[in-house]
Amino acid sequence: MKISVDHIQEKALTIEVDEPVDTFPVLSGMQADGTCIFNGPVRGQISAVREYDHLRVAGNVTVPATFTCSRCLASYGTEIGSNFTIFFRKGPASQENDEEETELNDQDLVSATYSGDEIDLTHEIEEQVAMEVPFKPLCSETCKGLCPTCGIDLNQGDCSCGSDEVNFKFSALKDFKVSR
Ligand SMILES: [Zn+2]
Ligand SMILES: [Zn+2]
Repeated sequence: MKISVDHIQEKALTIEVDEPVDTFPVLSGMQADGTCIFNGPVRGQISAVREYDHLRVAGNVTVPATFTCSRCLASYGTEIGSNFTIFFRKGPASQENDEEETELNDQDLVSATYSGDEIDLTHEIEEQVAMEVPFKPLCSETCKGLCPTCGIDLNQGDCSCGSDEVNFKFSALKDFKVSR
């Protein structure tokens, strides 16, 4: 997803985002390695404006996704959203260490460089979305998980297995899942 730099002027340019996930290599990779399943395109809005010596690109994007709960192993659907602001400065091709990130008021502020006549937002958008993907997905904050002894979904009902043993075996179950 590219924007011609000439189109970005002092008056904000608004762009609708509606891009299939397979145009984002990092997101496609997450889908390929089983992190989650994306159920639709990345959608949202981006505004780009020229300020002083830089271009300010602010975006608000969401993508529907299905995760497997790390406690009860049930699939659940949710939406991943990201609100971000990126400051683009003209400069040499971006190097790892010239990207700075600070967090302010729930917004991620990112500095990036561009060269040539276009800025390519694909990478920046997918990085922002990828940061919102939970490391340990939970169907609910209060998910009780599975009993590792009898396998019952403790969200559906209780069992009579001992709780000391449960804790030990439960961590073994988590390790099993991670190495899958
Ligand atoms: Zn769960
Ligand atoms: Zn049990």
